[in-house]
Amino acid sequence: MVNFMTVRIDDKKCDYCLECVNTCPSEALTYDKCFEHDGTKCWYCESCMMVCETGSIKIMDM
Ligand code: SF4
Ligand code: SF4
Repeated sequence: MVNFMTVRIDDKKCDYCLECVNTCPSEALTYDKCFEHDGTKCWYCESCMMVCETGSIKIMDM
């Protein structure tokens, strides 16, 4: 399946609590000096977006 959606993180709002990474059920969202989102692993479940208390995450068209 080809997926044209991606997860974007606004680094001006983010406080790097990493709740989004810890919540992700598929290891699609990772952090190692910067956020990485692997669209081939992502379920687009929106869990990362819902857990983010700073509203930094958006799931959008690429
Ligand atoms: S949950 Fe939100 S504030 Fe926390 S690291 Fe993720 S994007 Fe940043
Ligand atoms: S939408 Fe779901 S699967 Fe995709 S990065 Fe966010 S929490 Fe992980």
